Amino acid sequence: MASLLENRILASFSQFIKQKTYPTQGWLTIQFALLVLIPYVFLAILPMDNKGIYVEILSFLNLVMMLSMMLQFPLAARLKHAKLFSRIDWNMQQHKRMGKWIGVFFFLHPLLILLPKWLLSGADLRLSIIESITAPRLLTGIIAWVLLAVWVLSSIYKNKLPIAYDKWKLWHTAGFMVVLILATWHITQVGSHGQFGQYINLLWWSACFLSLAFTVYGYAIKPKLLSQHACTLVSREKVSFNDWLITLKNHSAFTFQPGQFVWLSTKTSAYELDYHPFSIASTPRSLPNLSFVIRELGDYTRSLEQLKPGQAVFVDGPYGNMTLAANDASNAIILIASGVGIAPIIGLLRALAEANDPRPIRLIYGNRTYSQMLFTEELAHFENTLNNFKTRFVCYLPSTFAIYYQGFIDQTCLQSALQDVPVETSSVYLCGSDIAVKNIRKGLKQFPIPVRNIHFEQLSF
Ligand SMILES: Cc1cc2nc3c(=O)[nH]c(=O)nc-3n(C[C@H](O)[C@H](O)[C@H](O)COP(=O)(O)OP(=O)(O)OC[C@H]3O[C@@H](n4cnc5c(N)ncnc54)[C@H](O)[C@@H]3O)c2cc1C
Repeated sequence: MASLLENRILASFSQFIKQKTYPTQGWLTIQFALLVLIPYVFLAILPMDNKGIYVEILSFLNLVMMLSMMLQFPLAARLKHAKLFSRIDWNMQQHKRMGKWIGVFFFLHPLLILLPKWLLSGADLRLSIIESITAPRLLTGIIAWVLLAVWVLSSIYKNKLPIAYDKWKLWHTAGFMVVLILATWHITQVGSHGQFGQYINLLWWSACFLSLAFTVYGYAIKPKLLSQHACTLVSREKVSFNDWLITLKNHSAFTFQPGQFVWLSTKTSAYELDYHPFSIASTPRSLPNLSFVIRELGDYTRSLEQLKPGQAVFVDGPYGNMTLAANDASNAIILIASGVGIAPIIGLLRALAEANDPRPIRLIYGNRTYSQMLFTEELAHFENTLNNFKTRFVCYLPSTFAIYYQGFIDQTCLQSALQDVPVETSSVYLCGSDIAVKNIRKGLKQFPIPVRNIHFEQLSF
């Protein structure tokens, strides 16, 4: 028992040191917690005046939230070589979640500082507010506070704004860079750390510029690197009334695992910031070719017919960890694709077929109509050649095609499609829109599948 525990600790520690694979969510949480907590421990060691428990707690929260805000930049910067920031889908979840908490906390920040002072002094509230708002040394803080509130709200309601995603993203990044600079300016002006003040201010500015450097890298340096390894468009083919099959040829030593995705730009320059994430539908065996299934949705995906074979395509990646490697021990594989979620799922299925995987494999594939189902011939071929593979087509709208389940991929559909596999010891791979993934995960709760065996990719950040 003790040696088992020892082995586990050693394995985790060696992963922490080497991090050759993607770090687990648990490790990432611990590492991020350490990054925001350790500076407080150092500050607490310094011999500074004790200003009472309330001020102490507030200073702790201010520090943690400020460092969390700084971490937002590398989290969103697509840093595939820095393992701590390489799990982009986890990063984006945390970026959204932490962003909201940071917004709420800093929105309350002036209140948390001024209210106790006002309560203790018994001064006129109106005068205290006017005094605070007009104090010159608080100006940067006040501008940062207003900008932060507006920018956080515009992030929460981004889908309701009449602005294209790429333009919103540029404003989002630029706005928060300004907020971070103003907030750092504010804390270095009003923060009091006694005799250590100037050193601590230097640390704040260093942390601020380091965090912004990640974004500058993404916008200024990375495009140069990407332009040196551009792919060529081999073909673009319409494969359903709203889906395209895009094939690229890679000219560099690009490797990936089935199920991963890349950011693609088909602009004439790698510096034009119009990169879109798309899952790779092919397997490494098809390299140097890479294929993608792209569904028309908005401005960019509706303009794919303008692409010209032979043109350069900039590829940033691979990213994502909905890959097969982590689950060798499962007894069966359940693949679930909703709509264009078939892109990474067909990549995984092709990899399983190439490996001649003997385990039962089930594919549940949903679309609005049967005419949107892709790769039907290939799927039929796999049913004949793989040891134990079955496809269940699920159509929301009625169709004349006989072998399909009408409705959504819900609890009943899952139950009927998975009757003959050991679901509780299976690995599940699921991809689709946010709503589809959320509902299908809800439907999967009826089975006792360990959470670690359910892998999913949502087709939006
Ligand atoms: C990890 C991942 C893998 C994906 N794989 C595929 C795939 O294989 N096939 C496919 O058809 N679609 C895929 N998508 C979705 C695809 O990226 C969007 O449909 C596409 O970017 C929409 O661009 P648009 O200009 O046509 O539409 P818009 O109307 O501009 O955008 C529609 C929505 O797509 C998302 N989006 C748009 N641009 C970006 C961007 N630059 N970065 C991130 N999200 C963006 C936003 O949520 C936006 O609200 C994937 C998305 C993610 C996050």
